[in-house]
Amino acid sequence: MSEHLQAEVPLTECPVCGSSALKTCVRIEAMPTYCNVLWSSIEEAREAPRGNIDLAFCRDCGHVFNRVFDPGVMDYSEGYENSLHFSPKFNAYATALANRLVERCDIRGKDVIELGCGKGDFLAMICAAGDNRGTGFDKSFESGREGAAAHPGLTFVQDYYSEVYADRPADLVVCRHVLEHIQHPRTFLEGLRKTLSERPDTLVYFEVPNALFTLRDLGIWDLIYEHCSYFTPGSLRRVFADSGFRVVEQNDAFDGQFLSLEALPALSGERGLLPDPDELGAVALDVDAFAESYRAKVVEWQSRLRQAKDAGTKTVVWGAGSKGVTFLNIVKDSSAIDYIVDLNPHKHGKFVPGTGQKVVSPDFLVGYRPDQVVVMNEVYLDEIKNLLRESGVAADVRAV
Ligand SMILES: [Zn+2]
Repeated sequence: MSEHLQAEVPLTECPVCGSSALKTCVRIEAMPTYCNVLWSSIEEAREAPRGNIDLAFCRDCGHVFNRVFDPGVMDYSEGYENSLHFSPKFNAYATALANRLVERCDIRGKDVIELGCGKGDFLAMICAAGDNRGTGFDKSFESGREGAAAHPGLTFVQDYYSEVYADRPADLVVCRHVLEHIQHPRTFLEGLRKTLSERPDTLVYFEVPNALFTLRDLGIWDLIYEHCSYFTPGSLRRVFADSGFRVVEQNDAFDGQFLSLEALPALSGERGLLPDPDELGAVALDVDAFAESYRAKVVEWQSRLRQAKDAGTKTVVWGAGSKGVTFLNIVKDSSAIDYIVDLNPHKHGKFVPGTGQKVVSPDFLVGYRPDQVVVMNEVYLDEIKNLLRESGVAADVRAV
């Protein structure tokens, strides 16, 4: 695997505020760079591209970021699948959001641009809700895949948005779940601001995961290589204010898991909503608690899995999503685990990047008879216990 690891060039300054007052939070070696890609053979899985995560906390703006992230290992151009539009709960949220933006900002018969539009599901919702015209930019966009997103007013551009496209009309610019993938978000936003220099009335709507949710929920298995930037409410406001925008609204969304922000291009001297100075101290404590919990959890699971291996206890993981992949790759010595269970039949027979466990269906456990089942998502604990009981699988079932 060493050939996949490039020499590290750590950022010494915060990509949001430029401060060099950085503090290391958590370091994870050799994580798969795409945690949602499963592989067809164990050899390919173990050779999957990897990179290190060295999460740093900026004491001046509260931003958390992977300071050794290497954008060169990421390739969003070919069929990169990042759609969240498979979950009914997420879809309901997106529909309500599209309607709210149209109503509140009176986006009707107008021009909407979406940066990183994926297959265009959300853009199609906004266009339908307000009879708008939409242009979606996405390097990974494949024509013919718009499917449900087909709408007469929609155009797609298979490219990154840049100054080249500054002449495209835009009353609203939407960008959701993109900024956390960008190593230098301020540079990105300054570029966007330039394209809007002649259009001071263009509203921008951004949405990112809420770092406070991950930190306070101690979501240590939620860390993935793809996310190099973890925004706190303060660091998100700061990066917009410093890039020439005036923040007019910022909220939590999706049960606190996301942060949303609305801003307008700032005229000279305008600052808009600025970070809450009291937030920074609280975030610093959250970061410390997270780092401590991370170390304790990893030691606990490494020792538990070592004991299981020594005792010949058969252990399986339940849930081959990003949490399961992260868990197996963080605890590293996961040779005590040969299989990972998932309900999704498309994943069966494939292998986990990095560690190489095979994905199996729940039925497989009837013959395999595991002693221990480690459940990645606590929400499904009771459901899984019932399912195993009904199948006659007597295993100790616990959440990670
Ligand atoms: Zn900073």
